[in-house]
This record gives sequence, C-alpha cells and structure tokens, in this order.
Amino acid sequence: MNIPFLSLQEVNARYADELKVAAGRVIDSGWYVLGEELRSFEREFADYIGVRHALGVGNGLDALALILRGYKELGAIVDGDEVIVPGNTFIASFLAVTENRLVPVPVEPDPVSFNIDPACVEAAIGPRTRAIMAVHLYGQVANMPALAALARKHNLLLIEDAAQAHGAMRDGRKAGAFGNAAAFSFFPGKNLGALGDGGAVVTDDEALAERVAALRNYGSDVKYHHLFQGLNSRLDEIQAAMLRVKLRYLDEDIAWRRRVALRYREGIHHPHITLPSVAQEEEHAWHLFVVRCAHRDALQQHLHACGIQSQVHYPVPPHRQPAYASLRNAHLPVTERLHNEVLSLPMAPTLCADAVDRVVEACQAFECPA
Ligand SMILES: *Cc1c(COP(=O)(O)O)cnc(C)c1O
Repeated sequence: MNIPFLSLQEVNARYADELKVAAGRVIDSGWYVLGEELRSFEREFADYIGVRHALGVGNGLDALALILRGYKELGAIVDGDEVIVPGNTFIASFLAVTENRLVPVPVEPDPVSFNIDPACVEAAIGPRTRAIMAVHLYGQVANMPALAALARKHNLLLIEDAAQAHGAMRDGRKAGAFGNAAAFSFFPGKNLGALGDGGAVVTDDEALAERVAALRNYGSDVKYHHLFQGLNSRLDEIQAAMLRVKLRYLDEDIAWRRRVALRYREGIHHPHITLPSVAQEEEHAWHLFVVRCAHRDALQQHLHACGIQSQVHYPVPPHRQPAYASLRNAHLPVTERLHNEVLSLPMAPTLCADAVDRVVEACQAFECPA
C-alpha cells in the first residue's frame, strides 16, 4: 500500500460524527456569517494561544495582511516602509507585505534551525525598517527572545507568521503569544485545519484588534458605517464550527506528530540525510518533518519508487519567483541551498508506526547517485 504525504480524508474521518453534528447546528441556525460559532471559536482559540484577542478571517494570507494594514491605520507604518522577512518561507509572508505597499527585506535563516537568524535581522535593520516578521517554519518557534530584544532596541513591531505553528511552544509559551500580533492559517492541511479556507489574527493589542475587526468586515464598526476602506475577509460560521471541534483534539494530534517525528529521528541514520534539528522535543508542533539531502531529487524518486509520497517545502524561494523579479539579486546563499536540499517526509496525526517504519527503511536503503 502506498503511503500518502498526508491524507486529509483520514484526518477528518476521526471526527466525522462530531463535525456533522456541528455543521447541522449551523445549517439549522439560519445564521452563517459573523455569529455565535465565530464568537465562541475566537474565545476558545485566544484562550488556547494565551492572548486576549482572536479574530477569525478568510485565510492565513489575509490574517498577515490585516495585521500590517491595521498597523498602517494606527499610523505605525506608512507606504514604502520595510518589513524584515525570512528568505526561506512560503510566498504568503512576502505577499502580505507587498499587498500593503510595504517593502519586504529578506534575510537568511539559521542553517541549523531553518528559522530566521537574529544576527541577519539586526544587520538588515535600516532607517525605514518598521517591523520584523518571524515565521515559525515547519512548526518550530523562531528565536523569539532574541527577536523581541531587537524589536525593543530598535522600536520595531514584531509580527508572527504562525501559519505552521498551532500549538508549538518555546519556553512554555505558545506560538502566537510572543509578538505584537500573529497570523494563523486554517487551510485544511495545517495542524489545525478547517474544511475549507480560514485564518485568524491573534493579539493582546486592543487597538489593533479593533482595527482588524472592522477591516475584515468592509471597514465597518457599526453596520453601514465605515471607518476604513476595508475588505471582506471573515471566517464563516460553518468553518468556525468545524474548528471548534478540531481545536479540542489539537494537542492530541500534536502529541501523535511528535511520536512520528521521534520514530523518524530514532530510525533514520544515513550519511547523506540530515535530520531536522530540534531545540525542545516537546515544544515542536511538527507541522512538517523536513530532512536535507544534497541528492534531494534522487531521494524523492527513490521514496516514490517505494510507494512513499514526499513533498518539497519549498522548491523556489520567493526572491527567485517571477512575481518578485525586483528581489532577484538578493544574496541569500543559505536560503537557496536549503531550497535545493529540503524534503518533507509523510507527517500526519494518523500515520501509524508500521508506515513510519516503512519510510525509515526506505530512507536507510537510499543509495546516493555516484
Ligand atoms: C499556509 C501559510 C500561509 C498562508 O495561509 P493561507 O491560509 O493558505 O492563506 C502563510 N504563511 C505560511 C508560512 C504558511 O505556511
């Protein structure tokens, strides 16, 4: 039997009965946008993360963009200001910046953790820098203590792209509770996934929460009164109801992911496969299990021949995409090497020990091309 990278069907089948009850409740309620389910989910998710406010929005990209837009409305950022971003991230981190007519300044990751390197951040801070956007890549929290110290020293906003890090922690604190604000995605494949698109902004900043609440709803605070030129980006009631069910199982799911990761780490010992480095085993949320191999494409083909599906996150960094031709000349050798070497092994809260062992065996049997 083939081993899929991630079977969303299996993931959601475990809660199918509860999901159907929740969907039925929304269908019967006759209220489908900005209602009780969303309010309840926002309360429950804010409590889970450990922050005062959570605001459901349409997707993770909008969550990131709305944080920046909110700080523009508050006068903390203006057009043309710079936001420091990791070079090795999903393109949404960049799109949120440019969508707001701000300038992304990509910097290198730490080559061991893959997360943004605070020393590179400090070197990139200039007169127009207003914010640092940290991405908790693959489910491991970035070096937030160092980034928070830099943000304080240089009077910058610290924003978290926590789209891959629901439930991840550092020093006992959850991803999303470190910066001025954080963005989550509930895309179906994330650690906490809806049955469609969804996202959230979380923050302790009352003023930002008010701005985002209005901006997501046509810039309106009171119906038909518009404070801002907002957009329509709301987490609808059905998705909020799905997420309320799945949030209750998130910690169990993450514990399962940790067991998978541990089994990989104990089993794979190959001279040409580098395992991911882990600062704290019990704090990593293991959205992805990413190994490195100089012969990445050959390894992927070998796994494929063994009936194992793997993926590359991500094959081309944002500054090498046609969409960002203006950043083409950025000098980011660590980022570029990572993009050539990374391979994500199957990872899911449904992956059984036998399947993990088969992946381990296949990795161990990999013969490098001469
Ligand atoms: C998934 C993801 C996003 C975007 O979330 P969507 O809900 O798909 O818009 C942003 N940043 C990172 C790092 C992601 O992995």
